[in-house]
Amino acid sequence: MNRKMKRRVSGLLIGIAFIGIIVLLVMTFSDGRHSEYVAKAITLKHDVDEPHAEIARLKRQLALLKKKGCNLEEDLISLPVIFAVTPTYARPEQKAELTRLYQTLLLVPNLHWVIVEDAEAPTPLVKNLLASSGLSHTHLHAHTPPAQKLKAKDPHWAKPRGVLQRNTALEWLRSDGPLKVAPINPDGEPLGVVYFADDDNSYSIRLFEEMRYVQNVGVWPVGLVGGLMVERPLPSSDGRGVASFNAGYKPERPFPIDMAGFAINLATLRNHPDAKFLYEVQPGYQESQLLKQLTTKQELEVLADNCTKVYVWHTRTDKPKMREELQWKAQGRPPSNQDIEV
Ligand code: UDP
Ligand code: MN
Repeated sequence: MNRKMKRRVSGLLIGIAFIGIIVLLVMTFSDGRHSEYVAKAITLKHDVDEPHAEIARLKRQLALLKKKGCNLEEDLISLPVIFAVTPTYARPEQKAELTRLYQTLLLVPNLHWVIVEDAEAPTPLVKNLLASSGLSHTHLHAHTPPAQKLKAKDPHWAKPRGVLQRNTALEWLRSDGPLKVAPINPDGEPLGVVYFADDDNSYSIRLFEEMRYVQNVGVWPVGLVGGLMVERPLPSSDGRGVASFNAGYKPERPFPIDMAGFAINLATLRNHPDAKFLYEVQPGYQESQLLKQLTTKQELEVLADNCTKVYVWHTRTDKPKMREELQWKAQGRPPSNQDIEV
């Protein structure tokens, strides 16, 4: 190689090294900037006070800690179990309601869904929905006697709904069933709290963490019920339970509160084996019927920021109109949902 060639090669090598250094520098800086952005995004996420984001974050942390050999699940399973009791019955919107509900319940740690079908036997629709939900669950059924069933033309308040189904759930809750699901205290009793979660209400997942450590009976406001924007217990100024309720509908009731507005410690229910719902009470008295057997106004545990926050709404779903479906039937055409579960 002559001198000229040598100079060219070394020039080329210096050039390549120079470009390499530039590329490395750019990569390092851009990478640094990138991780800065990621860090910012994570910080922002933490700032957003959203429980589902928090749960997702904690799940990721749990996975990480498990990888490192920690066993946090031991602690997680010692949380009291929330037993959500849902009566449900077959109608066009049933699967939509149950899908909405179970996908909310999936975001709640240590929750057991006690679903009670108003049917002579468990239906495949509910059975398959439960199986595919991934939720811990118990599937019960109890058929409302025809005399107690609402007729098509009846107003919805003419008959109490879900009475037999909730009582069936109460029986299960007092059996050995919960022992297989919940952590057990030193007396051999299951640790949990019971909540009556109708299939058509709307629930914030914050509600469930409010109720988890209820000692006896906990209460909170319910939105869109009793003809008011919000029905709520009014806490005593001396810190002892509830002084009164703001209800407009039948305020003379012992507990003028909706089914969605309270949760009961499982031990309280197991210590009062006869406490249950009854068909033979006036409309609007189901909640009072149960609660007066278990507690007093002064003993109620006031939750949801002293009953100033709404985490559950008594929404009701419009009955879907089936005009075309009925016309098709009259014309002898097959239903739109033939072989399709809706
Ligand atoms: N429900 C039932 N059988 C019926 C009517 C209602 O099991 O014949 C269930 C329903 O799915 C819901 C609960 O009982 O979970 C309360 O019923 P609904 O929402 O109609 O009562 P409302 O909101 O009018 O008090
Ligand atoms: Mn309802």
